Amino acid sequence: MHIHEYQAKGVLKSFGVPVPEGYLAVDIEGAGEMAARLPGPVFVVKSQIHAGGRGKGSFKELGEGAKGGVRLARSIAEVREHAAEMLGNTLVTIQTGPSGKQVNRLYVEDGSQIEKEFYLSLLVDRATSRVSFVVSTEGGMDIETIAHDTPEKILTFSVDPATGILPHHGRAVAKALELDGDLAKQAHTLVAKLYTAFTAKDMEMLEINPLIVSKDGQLKCLDAKVSFDSNALARHLDIFEMRDESEEDAKEIEASKYDLSYITLDGSIGCMVNGAGLAMATMDIIKFYGAEPANFLDVGGGATAEKVAAAFKIITADPNVKGILINIFGGIMRCDVIAEGVITAVKEVGLTVPLVVRLEGTNVNEGKKIIAASGLNVIPADDLDDAAQKIVNAVGGLN
Ligand code: GDP
Ligand code: MN
Repeated sequence: MHIHEYQAKGVLKSFGVPVPEGYLAVDIEGAGEMAARLPGPVFVVKSQIHAGGRGKGSFKELGEGAKGGVRLARSIAEVREHAAEMLGNTLVTIQTGPSGKQVNRLYVEDGSQIEKEFYLSLLVDRATSRVSFVVSTEGGMDIETIAHDTPEKILTFSVDPATGILPHHGRAVAKALELDGDLAKQAHTLVAKLYTAFTAKDMEMLEINPLIVSKDGQLKCLDAKVSFDSNALARHLDIFEMRDESEEDAKEIEASKYDLSYITLDGSIGCMVNGAGLAMATMDIIKFYGAEPANFLDVGGGATAEKVAAAFKIITADPNVKGILINIFGGIMRCDVIAEGVITAVKEVGLTVPLVVRLEGTNVNEGKKIIAASGLNVIPADDLDDAAQKIVNAVGGLN
């Protein structure tokens, strides 16, 4: 689960991590009032969306030449002007995709004078089964660019969970960032606090870009992007309450209500499959025959007809879906249950795109009979290969 920057900074602050003073605003009036609480004379007005690259982003409604989603202001009047341009408008960044995201919340922050910008992140490193620090002196740019242009400027350290964070980790980070004296000391404490916050809150990723040294010699987190392990949210209700569903994919929220594993993709073939491995194989073979999947969907082993119907409705509601492939291997899942679910859903929402069904396994004959008797315009398929070719042909091949 992702949260907004202002929420992430709130969490970090509660662990003693240095962040600039700032306040949330949802309207122009509020933005002015929040700025008035800050010392000034420089303020930062920051669009709150679940995507990075805001500074270099642009607003759809404002056209060329307008400023991005993170702006400096030198007066309260200017804060209000920026707020008026941002709120309700659509910010497009390298991470939002071309459709962008509507800005409904602003974070008004005390402006910092930047001496240096660094990159620092923590993540769960699956290769070492440890939490790793990733640091670079090249802050402010996105890490992909640094990794591509100057990979030698990215340094990684992992923390052994048996010992937890130790002073040498702090020293390693300070050295990598070329800090000494008081700034090195600040880095040591910062590293320990970030690690504590990361593990205490079951974070999946914590990215500070940029971490800065201010002109007055303070190490501060100027940006914060955090995601949490969704499986651990049950023990962090404070975090769970920060969820902003308006930032999430509506289809994925609907799918999560039915406990379906669903991820929206950008192709044209809707897939309904049971089992994550079979879903991956199905997506691969669709690509192999030249088309792209519109989603990943695993209905799970013990799905009910109701769950299958919900899954089918989510797929058909997606305007990008030009054809549907149902690929079920009945093990625990029974093919007749799938057939019933699909027919229930089609009766309710109709079927306007080609549908290829490949059923195999438990109660396969009952399942096929139910579909045949329904009078639905279904293209039956014998195996995975046949099914993929049929659906790709039905949607007109390459897309
Ligand atoms: P992002 O573009 O979504 O990653 O948003 P950031 O919070 O990282 O802000 C973008 C950029 O704005 C930063 O990399 C900084 O260079 C700049 N910026 C943000 N806050 C301040 C500030 O307080 N003072 C100054 N001078 N620049 C800032
Ligand atoms: Mn940033």
